[in-house]
Amino acid sequence: MSDLIRKSASEQAELLRTGQVSSVELTQAHLDRTAAVDGDVHSYLHVGPEAALAAAADIDRRRAAGEQLHQLAGLPIAVKDNLTTTDAPTTSGSKILEGWVPPYDATVVAKLRAAGMPILGKTNLDEFAMGSSTEFSAYGPSKNPWDLGRIPGGSGGGSSSVVASFQAPLAIGSDTGGSIRYPAFVTGTVGAKPTYGAVSRYGLIALASSLDQVGPVSRNVLDSALLQDVIAGHDPHDSTSLPESLGSMAEAAKKLDVKGMRIGVIKQLNGEGFAAGVSARFNESLQLLQQAGAEIVEVDCPSFEYAIAAYYLILPAEASSNLAKFDSVRFGLRVTPEGTPTIERVMAATREAGFGPEVKRRIILGTYALSSGYYDAYYGSAQKVRTLIQRDFDAAFAKADVLVSPTAPSVAFKFGEKLDDPLAMYLNDIATIPANLAGIPGIAVPNGLAEENMPSGIQFLAPAREDARLYQVGATLEKLHEDVWGKRMIDFAPELQEAR
Ligand code: GLN
Repeated sequence: MSDLIRKSASEQAELLRTGQVSSVELTQAHLDRTAAVDGDVHSYLHVGPEAALAAAADIDRRRAAGEQLHQLAGLPIAVKDNLTTTDAPTTSGSKILEGWVPPYDATVVAKLRAAGMPILGKTNLDEFAMGSSTEFSAYGPSKNPWDLGRIPGGSGGGSSSVVASFQAPLAIGSDTGGSIRYPAFVTGTVGAKPTYGAVSRYGLIALASSLDQVGPVSRNVLDSALLQDVIAGHDPHDSTSLPESLGSMAEAAKKLDVKGMRIGVIKQLNGEGFAAGVSARFNESLQLLQQAGAEIVEVDCPSFEYAIAAYYLILPAEASSNLAKFDSVRFGLRVTPEGTPTIERVMAATREAGFGPEVKRRIILGTYALSSGYYDAYYGSAQKVRTLIQRDFDAAFAKADVLVSPTAPSVAFKFGEKLDDPLAMYLNDIATIPANLAGIPGIAVPNGLAEENMPSGIQFLAPAREDARLYQVGATLEKLHEDVWGKRMIDFAPELQEAR
């Protein structure tokens, strides 16, 4: 594998700026890597070499002409396939959208293009971002580059594996209940869920609109910060978009200092239910942070006990409504049943053929939770729990500047292990879901090897709009780790078989 693609995004961008490599060369190097490994890893649902190389050549021309370019100009990137792109199909991992080429770019995609970042392709995900393993993708699962027999996390397992297997320096993900952070945890990468509203959702195929947020995936903290700076900002096309700027995340990621920072360990997300190795790494990192001058306190969030139950009512309720538009009328799949093709029968046949099992399960759950007579008991109660969780966070942030927990309970599982047990699959989300319910930002940072030599991770959470704190504490811990390990987390990853 070329050394070039092993470099971090910021290092690659520096080579572009100083003219040591062209964007066409850099983009081609990543496409070559994809040709070599993606047959095994299956990060991509669509690779677009022509469009990527054309965008790269354009940036090279403009740089040669002396134009002032964005600091990431020429750096290629991969985008989760639930963001619309006019030059590539957008399927959201579903058969119902197979081959659909949207008529508009998502705002995030438009921002990447404006920054001059060539889009390499669209990454795999669980169908409509429902899942934790990519096993619910209608196009087959992505693999974990650390062990091809294990899941790369979900729903954004394409974005985590594409970055972990050096097919792209950066990727875009979306996080509704952990779909950026959990894949980061199991692949030894970094992923951040920004404050709700910090990044536009325009052009993101909605899962649960009150929870969805787009964010960065990378191999180190600074790289995610640089990417969040590209994609964040107010967007008049998204009514929930924050009016104000949250400042520079890249600047925050350069402050390698936690002296006096109060870090709150969430009592409910520690110890019981978390694998021994994951917990051991977690406690070691707390010690490192303490030695570096942070003050470690414990915080109590009693309502977190009900977070999964509330989430799996609120999410299906919103999803069942969001997915109603996939009805065969305007776009996507249309199946005409035998007999009289009434509109109802066409819709039913299309949805029966076009949706997979997890999507159907959630539509049924959500429709039930919203039905008259049950609305208050289920959806209404879940919304009350959501408020209690927000209050738990408010109380915790009175005692701490940031909160911390392991990102998830256990290391990447093997394919098939949780497929027939929805509850076991949902329990992976225990530590990530509360942030979505409260709209606050979170970052997942690699945290050393745990069970079976697989990666584990640590998650920091901050109050809404305080994303910068996450990049500061995350980058500081990353530096402390590198001082101890003598290498980067990703350097522990075994080389993929065929590239050995
Ligand atoms: N595992 C979560 C779920 O299945 C993740 C969803 C997400 O963040 N897109 O709902």
